[in-house]
Amino acid sequence: LDPTNDNFSPEEFDVEKKLRPLSFDDFTGQDQVLENLQIFVQAANLRAEALDHTLFHGPPGLGKTTLANILANELNVGIKVTSGPVLDKPGDLAGLLTNLEERDVLFIDEIHRLSPIVEEYLYSAMEDFKIDIMIESGPNARTVQINLNPFTLVGATTRSGLLTSPMRARFGIQSRLQYYKTDLLTTIIQRSASILNVPISMEAAIEIAGRSRGTPRIANALLRRVRDFAQIKGNGSIDIKIAKYSLEALNVDAHGLDEMDNKILATIIDKFKGGPVGISTIATAVSESPETIEEVYEPFLIQQGFIMRTPRGREVTAEAYKHLGRVKGPTQGG
Ligand code: ADP
Repeated sequence: LDPTNDNFSPEEFDVEKKLRPLSFDDFTGQDQVLENLQIFVQAANLRAEALDHTLFHGPPGLGKTTLANILANELNVGIKVTSGPVLDKPGDLAGLLTNLEERDVLFIDEIHRLSPIVEEYLYSAMEDFKIDIMIESGPNARTVQINLNPFTLVGATTRSGLLTSPMRARFGIQSRLQYYKTDLLTTIIQRSASILNVPISMEAAIEIAGRSRGTPRIANALLRRVRDFAQIKGNGSIDIKIAKYSLEALNVDAHGLDEMDNKILATIIDKFKGGPVGISTIATAVSESPETIEEVYEPFLIQQGFIMRTPRGREVTAEAYKHLGRVKGPTQGG
């Protein structure tokens, strides 16, 4: 249940696709982001213009790809999908760009991982809808400029801190997605269960939601696993008993924390007496990059009240000690 991992089996991939909301109305949560997007889309539709380039940032599994698809649907245009690591040559990008129809969406996932050459190539495409392409080779080689159809670049990144500032500046619309509260995840689970045709009690939906790390992708993944238990060990419907039994069997943390979350908390407690400790020291201790800790893990741990930011660094809370079953040493205050 790695929130960053989308490697499903083909069957699971189909299920995942079925669960993906297709319109603004279908999408739960992120109200502020959605309200703004609805206005921008309406205005772009009214003027028959391409929507401004749009950047979504936030931890994995919160709906960035889903929103990119919804934008295309609501703009009534096509979408082409690629990702930063895949686009390694300007030629690949040129091929994609020249095939875009007017107002189409080009979705680039993990846009912080574009190579500098490709990124630079993208600038003029985004700004003037023009690109230079090289024709012929050898002594006859020359570049010609070609016009592109106006399009919308939708970029997604889990690590906005790694985006270069010229890149960031080219996005007229920038939205940060937040972790989902349990009640929203409950709604998402109920919706998914009804699409999957599996009866689920309110109590069971809340139980799964609470262990989903604030992340719809994890909520859906847990629901699919609990559905398996319900089918094999129960009568096919999900009640609180089978939900608790399955989550126990799956070894899902009571708060939905993943291995790295727990490792971070344990490290601060065991190696740094609960903090305060700087983010780069924590990062070194758990062998992760400071940016990933700061943008992917820490926000959830703070939101859940396990970590506090203080002027002197990060400190774990009493909740964190409780969660890990540790006793707070007598030498630490606060
Ligand atoms: P990201 O691109 O941010 O990693 P995705 O858009 O791929 O996340 O979302 C992961 C899955 O979670 C999607 O397939 C979708 O089914 C589900 N999902 C995400 N956001 C929502 C939402 N707001 N409402 C319902 N389902 C959602």
